[in-house]
Amino acid sequence: LVGRMAVKPAVAKGNYDWFQTASLVTIVIYTKQKDISLDSIIVDYQDGSLRAETIIKDYAYLLHMGLCHEVQEEFSVRAVENVGKIEITLKKRQSTSWKCLGQPLEKHNSFTPKKDSDLRYRKCQLVSKEDVTHDTKLFCFMLPASSHLQVPIGQHVYLKLTVKEIVKPYTPVSDFLFSEFKEPVLPNKKWIYFLIKIYPNGLFTPELDRLQIGDFVSLSSPEGSFKISKLQELEELFLLAAGTGFTPMVKVLNYALTYVPRLRKVKLMFFNKTEEDIIWRSQLEKLAFKDKRFDVEFILSAPTSEWNGKQGHISPALLSEFLKRGQEESSVFLCICGPTPFTEQGIRMLHDLHISRDEIHGFTA
Ligand code: FAD
Ligand code: NAD
Repeated sequence: LVGRMAVKPAVAKGNYDWFQTASLVTIVIYTKQKDISLDSIIVDYQDGSLRAETIIKDYAYLLHMGLCHEVQEEFSVRAVENVGKIEITLKKRQSTSWKCLGQPLEKHNSFTPKKDSDLRYRKCQLVSKEDVTHDTKLFCFMLPASSHLQVPIGQHVYLKLTVKEIVKPYTPVSDFLFSEFKEPVLPNKKWIYFLIKIYPNGLFTPELDRLQIGDFVSLSSPEGSFKISKLQELEELFLLAAGTGFTPMVKVLNYALTYVPRLRKVKLMFFNKTEEDIIWRSQLEKLAFKDKRFDVEFILSAPTSEWNGKQGHISPALLSEFLKRGQEESSVFLCICGPTPFTEQGIRMLHDLHISRDEIHGFTA
């Protein structure tokens, strides 16, 4: 009996292949995973070497080669879900016929448990920066043409600045809450958005805020334990966010409203200090107006006297009111994220309210 042990997927030598035309070289990785998608693979091409890391269950399968001829920086990646294969198509610089794909480099054609694989960084360029609240900004970075990387829902990356070699984790957001308010955004998978609060006395964020458009930041491979499968059979979703703890909720919310067929209700309880701290308030209110499945409630810990909404910190009373289910037997899931004491207290209170461990995902460090 295998039990909960991770089983190494059966991709052996010979389970990747390649072929060519006069102008293209296509590498095919056979993952044997029917649900494989483009966020399961990270590809970087640099100085003649190609590194493609495919996440297959709890393992990272590495294809790592020094290519025998030069290719262009840009390449395309395609996931063929029904057969579980991934195709990387490279453009030859010269239309010569390749005798071999290249020389194997370190750990080529091997599996590493995902938790042991190294975080690798690539340089991304700052494309835009916009104020969202008085202290929180929306940063847009562009991946280099020579990298393919998509951050899975619920995961974060590390940003590193060359100035001080400081590294901090951030959770990308999708543009679904703000894109209709701006010029149409091209579906450009090369852009990664972050909502980042600038702390005047912080170590990292004031330096990040000093970047000019066109400057570079290093961005790591994604990390995190959130499982999208938890959402698939869901009927009711509860989201508890405090401050920038809202960031992982953005993609979760979008996914749930778009792809979860049985979903009846999503409730977001958003804790902030004051009204001016609330990220994307009008966008959230507009979404609640447009989509009857979605409700949002703002709770302030330091409101002005004009505030007539809910007040205070996370508490059993607020939670039991919030968690009233539409139907007794519905399948529910709850995500919580914010300052560590908020998340820890929240999870304890939820256990006391008989929400089981399986029904909660706490986003923590
Ligand atoms: P820090 O130097 O860490 O300081 C933060 C604040 O604490 C400042 O006000 C500082 O004055 C104060 N402080 C520092 N040390 C002390 C001390 N000893 N005593 C009292 N006060 C102190 N943040 C986002 O904005 N967006 C995100 O999407 C995001 N995603 C995250 C994902 C994960 C998985 C995690 C763990 C964190 C995430 N964060 C996010 C938080 C982020 O990683 C940083 O912690 C945050 O940006 C602060 O970094 P900093 O170096 O600027 O501030
Ligand atoms: P903040 O200081 O503005 O506080 C927002 C709200 O959090 C407050 O109004 C209050 O309701 C609650 N809160 C704050 N401190 C609390 C405490 N000690 N006990 C109970 N409730 C408390 O928040 P911020 O500056 O935006 O900080 C957001 C936090 O979320 C950061 O610590 C960041 O690291 C964390 N975060 C984590 C992730 C992750 O994935 N793990 C992602 C994003 C942000």
